[in-house]
Amino acid sequence: MIRTRFAPSPTGYLHIGGVRTALFSWAFARKNKGSFVLRIEDTDLERSTPESVKAILDGMHWVGLDYDEGPFYQTQRFDRYKEAIQQLLDSGHAYYCYMSREELDALREAQEARGEKPRYDRRWRPEAGKTLPPPPADVQPVVRFRTPLDGITGWDDAVKGRIEFANAELDDLIIARADGSPTYNFCVVIDDWDMNITHVIRGDDHVNNTPRQINILKALGAPLPAYGHLPMILNENGQKMSKRRDAVSVVDYADRGILPEALLNYLARLGWGHGDDEFFSMEQFVEWFTLEAVSPSASRFNHEKFLWLNAQHIKAADNARLAGLIAPRLAASGLDTANGPALEDVIALVKDRAQDLNVLADECHYFYQKLAAPQADIDKHLAGDALARMARFAGRLEALPEWNAESIHGLFKPFCADEGIKMGQLGMPLRVIVCGTTQTPSVDAVLALIGREEVLRRLRG
Ligand code: GLU
Repeated sequence: MIRTRFAPSPTGYLHIGGVRTALFSWAFARKNKGSFVLRIEDTDLERSTPESVKAILDGMHWVGLDYDEGPFYQTQRFDRYKEAIQQLLDSGHAYYCYMSREELDALREAQEARGEKPRYDRRWRPEAGKTLPPPPADVQPVVRFRTPLDGITGWDDAVKGRIEFANAELDDLIIARADGSPTYNFCVVIDDWDMNITHVIRGDDHVNNTPRQINILKALGAPLPAYGHLPMILNENGQKMSKRRDAVSVVDYADRGILPEALLNYLARLGWGHGDDEFFSMEQFVEWFTLEAVSPSASRFNHEKFLWLNAQHIKAADNARLAGLIAPRLAASGLDTANGPALEDVIALVKDRAQDLNVLADECHYFYQKLAAPQADIDKHLAGDALARMARFAGRLEALPEWNAESIHGLFKPFCADEGIKMGQLGMPLRVIVCGTTQTPSVDAVLALIGREEVLRRLRG
């Protein structure tokens, strides 16, 4: 039974890099009929406020990545971590270290002065034949893991291939602080073990933690999961995404009118591919997904492609659903849709024109309220006898026995012939007067939706 997890630390928002990690972890579980677990790594009590935990849960809900178990919270598992630390102390895989902060600082300074990499010198590590000083009474000890001194710790990374570290390069990391609280690497290990995680799929910023975690798992006698480390997402300039510079929070994408399925589709394509397929559903993604097909190197975010994909998903989306997303946007700009055409029908007509939901909302605007036409359009299209002509056309519209796009369309040819004008000389002024913009879909369909009464009011007003 395959079991994967997403284990975000609350930082105040759900990062899109995190969403990508969650997506691949989720897809791997779904593809293999396994389980996907959500675990909140909330041991940093300062950052893990209820709001930042909520931001993760809301973000997961918005993108639609459903989890089978959890959320589990590390802060509710301290007793279990304590017990496991004791297990390692008892088996001799961990030991108390009484080095004070001052001693550690002095050690680091001396090492740096000699041009060495700063590291703990294992002075409290028990060894056969080594006599340890008596524990000082005034220092609360930390607990350190007794990392093997030699040998290699490695794994076959499902994304990056074989990765190995010499144990001699790994220090005796602290697994419990002086106040008894467990440290990050330790909690992850116990959780992955207790939650029977078979595949740890996470960002490659954790590659350096993995040999440490493997050594702890071995010391505990726990089975080792498989690991797959996903490369980072860079911004368009090839830089690490940052909150200051880039849209990194899922909320930013929601605000920008991105559909969650478009975000997931795009994130899936970042560093993973299935032939030339660009536009696909999550069902297809799950069917096609393998960790082996994930690129081991970082990929860049491409906004143009991203918006193109969003446009494709808007086109494919159900109109009633889109109406639900657009209505609050129109209401926020003070538009009342109650007395106009059905929003779903408007959306069906204009949705091909929008790359995001905010633009889609803008495209719906003039169906409910005429836009203020740009002066250049007025000068260009309403000069000369154009206004008088529009009044004559209004008369024909008024006399139509039936009000629909076809019957309106049927007026165009004869009217242009009677007036001795080209279709553009009718269509453009009509758009400017009725809509306030020249950028509309087929004008007969637009007029049909706006409705006879309102069209005449606008033409004559
Ligand atoms: N909590 C870690 C993070 O947010 C992830 C730990 C893991 O996946 O092992 O980066």
